[in-house]
Amino acid sequence: MGEVKLLGVWKKFEDVTAVKDITLEVKDGEFMILLGPSGCGKTTTLRMISGLEEPTKGQIYIGDKLVADPEKGVFVPPKDRDIAMVFQSYALYPHMTVYDNIAFPLKLRKVPKQEIDKRVREVAELLGLSQLLNRKPRELSGGQRQRVALGRAIVRKPQVFLMDEPLSNLDAKLRVKMRAELKKLQRQLSVTTIYVTHDQVEAMTMGDKIAVINQGVLQQVGTPEEVYDKPANTFVAGFIGSPPMNFMDGSVTEDGFVDFGEFRLKLLPDQFEVLKEQGYVGREVIFGIRPEDIYDAMFAQVKVPGENMVKAMVEIVENLGGERIVYLSTEDISFIAKFPPESKVKEGQKIEVVFDMKKIHIFDKN
Ligand code: ADP
Ligand code: MG
Repeated sequence: MGEVKLLGVWKKFEDVTAVKDITLEVKDGEFMILLGPSGCGKTTTLRMISGLEEPTKGQIYIGDKLVADPEKGVFVPPKDRDIAMVFQSYALYPHMTVYDNIAFPLKLRKVPKQEIDKRVREVAELLGLSQLLNRKPRELSGGQRQRVALGRAIVRKPQVFLMDEPLSNLDAKLRVKMRAELKKLQRQLSVTTIYVTHDQVEAMTMGDKIAVINQGVLQQVGTPEEVYDKPANTFVAGFIGSPPMNFMDGSVTEDGFVDFGEFRLKLLPDQFEVLKEQGYVGREVIFGIRPEDIYDAMFAQVKVPGENMVKAMVEIVENLGGERIVYLSTEDISFIAKFPPESKVKEGQKIEVVFDMKKIHIFDKN
């Protein structure tokens, strides 16, 4: 079956180590996202899975088959890995029709003509290309071209799809539409898919699982909910969510507060217990809270002065229609909150805000 496994995989180029000791398991039929900033090693990882690049160290399995292990001298070339790839620049053959573009991988494999015809028409139906089979790529819109590229990838029914930022050349509106289509298609085909992106919204909306990578190192693997609710470190916390999580320096006090100097926030009893056990009491920490977990006191349910409330100055209000992004500051700190449209806070106003203490994050300061 189509599971993919990387065990302690490294890739060194002359002067850069692009991938550092990545171990990752993708289950059969799973949609796995590799997420991280530009240059973090996503493409290199994908190219090693495809066989376009050989790992410096480690093992890669596709299904039960070992496809790369430099120590054992194992290297299976791309054409024998039963994978299909879709890239950002989806090079279609300009002189061929849509039909021939989709049929090409099957012709290459000498599939009988009748079978080719059946499969091309099936795929065209699935992707809404049936009416366009006689057109040339130049007669198609960007979205249609991308669908042809997808068609060419799925026509072979490979064990694994590998996609490298396949939507990044599309305009914003089309990207949102294709995001949903691609997700639906993957569910229908239930083929193991590894999808590279630097866009956390794509990752959150499409992935069954997200593998967050920074500087070649895997930071966390989890469902979208897991990486959002329980980020493993400040990198993951700051990369997922928009606007990003607020971070503030504070310290955990003996009596169960996080102390920021000019104000303090009271930890919930169970949070304090855990922090005590972990040896955080009396230590400096990084306190994190997402903009959506800070409320305008006018609209907050649980308000306890001296425990979860802070007075702050409204610096900037960005009205996005459905929500307001509010930049706030106190004597010492600045942070961002996301308020509902009912909140009428104005720039220059001094307001009270409530921190949802159930949603806070405490990270090691090191
Ligand atoms: P991403 O896809 O996450 O943007 P890449 O995998 O393309 O990142 O690149 C990771 C790092 O490896 C970068 O520093 C990049 O410059 C480097 N790199 C990628 N391919 C090569 C190569 N063929 N030769 C040298 N360095 C490379
Ligand atoms: Mg890349």
